Order: sequence, then structure tokens, then C-alpha cells
Amino acid sequence: MGVVLKVAKFGGSSVKDAEAMGRCADLVCSQENLSVVVVSATQNTTNELELIAGTAKEGQLDKALLLVDHLRARHCSICSDIDASPEALKEGELFLEEILKEAKQLAVEISEKRKYSKKDMDALYCLGERMSSFLFSKLLQLKTKKKVILKDARKFIRTDSTFGAGVAQVDQISNSSKKELIPDLARDVIIVTQGFIGSDSDGATTTLGREGSDYSATLIGEAIDASEVQIWTDVEGVATFDPRLIDNTRFIPELSYEEASTLALLGAKVLYPKTLFPAKRKGIPVFVGSSKNPKAEGTRIHGNCVSKKGPRGLSFLKNSEGNLLSLVGDELGSLEGLPFKKVGESSVSVSYLIEDENLDKCLKELHELVLSHF
Ligand code: ASP
Ligand code: MG
Repeated sequence: MGVVLKVAKFGGSSVKDAEAMGRCADLVCSQENLSVVVVSATQNTTNELELIAGTAKEGQLDKALLLVDHLRARHCSICSDIDASPEALKEGELFLEEILKEAKQLAVEISEKRKYSKKDMDALYCLGERMSSFLFSKLLQLKTKKKVILKDARKFIRTDSTFGAGVAQVDQISNSSKKELIPDLARDVIIVTQGFIGSDSDGATTTLGREGSDYSATLIGEAIDASEVQIWTDVEGVATFDPRLIDNTRFIPELSYEEASTLALLGAKVLYPKTLFPAKRKGIPVFVGSSKNPKAEGTRIHGNCVSKKGPRGLSFLKNSEGNLLSLVGDELGSLEGLPFKKVGESSVSVSYLIEDENLDKCLKELHELVLSHF
């Protein structure tokens, strides 16, 4: 297309309330070519939607409806924090009411059947992203002179019919984006859309899997030939280990697609595991940073990293075999002789299976090794 387009995705904690949304909107406005904004549901909403389904399934319809009301109240209050004018409030309340009608309807059906399918859950899940994207689009429009357009991601994120874990249909996403996104983008607007959700060939709502909004952002980036995808979250980048679990972690300034993908696939929570596949296919750089501290360096993931030998990060996964700790980085062969049982390796990783009682000690030791190469 010859135009520079950037995509930014904001996670649930980044859009948890009007103040947090405001920071994200400022970040969007500060960047000339940022044309597509992908938002997650507000913090905890997706979990609350699961709770609503579970409560309805137990036959506790009143309690489930109360939870829907709680969701409505929380989103209405964000709406009034964004714009308390009578017209804006009325429009917001009507929109939220309509959406939550769907939630109530689904809760009634689930409580009658005493069960719900993955398809039902996807129909419920999508309400979270639809509410947050509506609110974010309103807030953004107050801050920018460009026209803000709210687009339903189900019109262009096509998946197969694996409800709860839809497999992205890349060619179809590319075709529908040509129709649904590219003509608007050529008019210098900002498109706000939902992460996580899509639709199958029958038009039924699907989702990409929990935490899948990162993947939505890179799928869109791929479809519109974006020059960059930004993933804004609550940590300042991809860290040497989950900074919520140990103290002395550092943020890694630069990673290759393989390294970042492998860290995510082997347990690093910061990115949804498939996120980097579309980016790698098109060579689109991905930036990971914190919407609370956007000036921090963040992590750049791209195809031209200055090659750095040795371990760059550590990830942790608990699976049926036990605790898997994996060092990720280039040329890890020189690490022979570590006193851990190696259970797997790839061109950019070595994995060790660690007994519960040794986990803390091994984690510290392997993390020290990563830091020594920093
Ligand atoms: N809202 C969804 C979830 O919580 C998707 C996402 O946030 O990435 O799993
Ligand atoms: Mg996430």
C-alpha cells in the first residue's frame, strides 16, 4: 500500500479504567501513523464472564444475573468517567444495556440446559472486548482530531470452528481486511477493534484462546502490512524471567522472533505463544512495552538482531512431566556440563526437568547464568 501503518494492542490492565484508558489514548495520539488499536476486555472481565457461565450452569440464575449487573455497573462507571455529558451517558448506557442483554440471554439458556458449550462461552467472551473497545473508541475520539472508527473484529478475524481455540485462517483474514480495513485506513482514520475474538465460516463467534489478543494484533499487522506492532502491557517488556516471580530480573532490549517465540511457547506469560508467527512471516517488528511507563526501553523483537551468544532469558512451564525450566538464546551448546537433567533442546533453547524441592534453587542458578550474559 506504500503507507506506514502501525498497530497497537492494549491489554486488560492497560484499559482497566478510564484513567488507564486515557494513558493508552495519549500514547495512540502521540504517534502519527498509529492506525489500528486492538483492545482486550477490561481487567478481570473475561474471568467474570467465565464465572457467569459457571454460576448459570449450577442453576444459580439470580446470582449469574447479579454478576452481569456488576459488569454493567463497572463499565457504566468507566463510561461516565470518560464523558459525563447526558448524551454520551445515554449512548453508553444504551450500548452496554444491549450488549449485556446478550449476556443475560446466554445466562438464562445455560441455566436451563445446566451446561454450556465452548461455542456458548465464546458468545459470552466476546462481550468483554466489545464493551472495552466501545469505551476506548469514545475516549480516543475525545482526544484526537482524526476520525475514530469502531470495527467488529468478527468481520475480519476469520478462524475455523474450534470454539475456544479458533485456528486463524490467514488467507481469509487477509481478504476480509482488504474489504473491512484497508479502504478506511487509506482515509487516515484510527480503527479501534477487539482482540481475542473472531468468527467462523458460519458467522458464529469464536475466540483465539485465552490471552489471544496479542495474536489478534499481529494477525491484523500481517493482513494490513503494518510497519510495526506494539504490544502494550503492564510490564516494561520481555524480561529475563517473570518479574512478578523473582526480584532481580532485567528487561531484554532485543530478541529475535525465534527467541521471543520460544520464550513464550515455553512458558513466559508476557506474550501469547503464537503472537510472533504472523510477525515473522512478514518481517514486522514487534515492540513490547508498558502503557504505564511508555518511555521505558521495552523489548524489540525483529529479524535483524545483533547476534548475542548465550542465554538471554529463562522460562518456566509446569506440565504433566513436572517443572520445565528452559534457557533461551543463541549458541547454548557451550552450556554443557550444567548439573541439570536436559530433557529437550532446539536451536535456541535447552530445557531441564527440575524436581519440586530443587525448583527455587535451580531457578535462581539458571537466572544468574542469564544475568551473567546480559
Ligand atoms: N480478554 C481475553 C483474556 O483475558 C483476551 C486477552 O486479554 O488477550 O483472555
Ligand atoms: Mg497478555
